Amino acid sequence: AEEMILRSEKLSIVGQMAAGVAHEIRNPLTSLKGFVQLMQSKVEGFDSYFSIMQEELDRINFIVSEFLVIAKPQSVRFQTKDVPTILHNTIMLTGSQALIHNVNITTEAKPDVPTIKCDENQIKQVFINILNNAIESMPEGGEIHISIVTAEDGQLLMRFSDNGCGIPEDRIPRLGEPFYTTKEKGTGLGLMVTFKIIENHGGQMRIFSELGKGTTVEIKMPAAKRQARG
Ligand code: ADP
Ligand code: MG
Repeated sequence: AEEMILRSEKLSIVGQMAAGVAHEIRNPLTSLKGFVQLMQSKVEGFDSYFSIMQEELDRINFIVSEFLVIAKPQSVRFQTKDVPTILHNTIMLTGSQALIHNVNITTEAKPDVPTIKCDENQIKQVFINILNNAIESMPEGGEIHISIVTAEDGQLLMRFSDNGCGIPEDRIPRLGEPFYTTKEKGTGLGLMVTFKIIENHGGQMRIFSELGKGTTVEIKMPAAKRQARG
């Protein structure tokens, strides 16, 4: 099995770029979307073209949103949270995607795992990105197993394992690189954003994979310091 620790240097330039560009693209995009919608309701006979335009605008919007996760640190709110609960809520939100693709998700959370200081929306984003990748690696369906335990050093340890297509050894160093994708409709931004979020939380992410067997994403996050009581 191959392992790599994603490096942060790849991200610094992209992060800075994202802050400027993503923000500037948002407003004209919203206006474009509005006018396309308006035209669709006024002009006859071009329905399929308008649909394509809407779809493409949605795609641009999605990419810009992914970038904004990096670009908007000021909107991040760190609070002490229980990760198994966030995971449960995320699966409730996206579980239908798994169902549609014949993917079964099982979770195993030890009862006394530590809470973490985090931005809940960002952690949800991390879970969604990892789950989507796992689902997409199993076009014929399969299993995703998630475990949440306390590591020996007291940190929170999460593992997401799938039995999907796996990743060739020579491609593993490219994971987290912006726009690296092997999918026809991929953006190649999911892992970059995921890694950036984990890094912002003081955590670590490692990816183990074996071609044809499956992939495990492992995330370690520092435990929240207990509030002094009394
Ligand atoms: P995207 O999903 O848009 O391609 P990501 O950054 O999420 O972008 O993933 C980058 C690439 O890493 C994917 O295209 C795929 O080749 C590989 N990958 C990520 N997760 C998995 C997984 N669980 N199983 C197999 N390949 C994966
Ligand atoms: Mg992805």
